[in-house]
Amino acid sequence: MLIDFHTHIFPTKIADMAIKVLKAGMLKEQGYCIEPQYDGTVDGLKAMMQKNNIDISVTLPIATRPKNTASINTFVKGITDSGIISFATVHPESDNYREELEQIAESGFKGIKLHPEFQHFYIDSKESVDILQTAEKLGLYVVIHAGADIGMPPPVHCTPKMLKNVLSYISGKYLIAAHLGGYGMWDDVEKYLCGTEIYMDTAFLSRIIDGEQLKRIIKSHGSDKILFGSDAPWENPADTVAMINSLGLDRAELDNIFYKNAQRILF
Ligand SMILES: [Zn+2]
Repeated sequence: MLIDFHTHIFPTKIADMAIKVLKAGMLKEQGYCIEPQYDGTVDGLKAMMQKNNIDISVTLPIATRPKNTASINTFVKGITDSGIISFATVHPESDNYREELEQIAESGFKGIKLHPEFQHFYIDSKESVDILQTAEKLGLYVVIHAGADIGMPPPVHCTPKMLKNVLSYISGKYLIAAHLGGYGMWDDVEKYLCGTEIYMDTAFLSRIIDGEQLKRIIKSHGSDKILFGSDAPWENPADTVAMINSLGLDRAELDNIFYKNAQRILF
């Protein structure tokens, strides 16, 4: 069993444009861009899952403007393909994010995705903490883009230290910090986040992270709080799987990471 907890899709009509915009951001910030593993559509994701023996993919939509929230949530609600489970989106600048969160919970979504870089807010700001508290009360999981985004300029809006600040207001049990708690900031993840209640995912790490540090973080944080995620289409899930398999973890730890933790959250 393999559950990829971090993937992206777009409505078919805008998938091509969305991929182009995201690639342009990388090119501007980094001087290079990453070729996607599929075209950003539901069908593209399904074909890629089949190729990589992935049983379930969790897709994480992001409304970059408050006014896009409703249409995006309607789109992901309409995805009925077996094997695809979507989270919903809210925007901290929305006037009625509390009602939106209630509706999201009532609709049966397991959680939401927040992206402090694309949604332009700090994770330990007042609105953000309010969203995290409301979500926790409703039993909604929150996947947060943590650390740098290679397609966005600094400053980073969700550092490991800011996440630690947030843990004064919530338990963290419903929080999933993507990119192992903070993309490119793993020394601070070891300093501030290892051993807390939060989950972390393994998305978009395989090109850059040092295997020793990855293993150290998994061991000290606990494999029961690490979720396999690729960030497809921006990383090939096969590369993420190979990276995790190369660490010398035992079977129980690998099972936790590849599907057991995700199953506990999703079912
Ligand atoms: Zn992502």
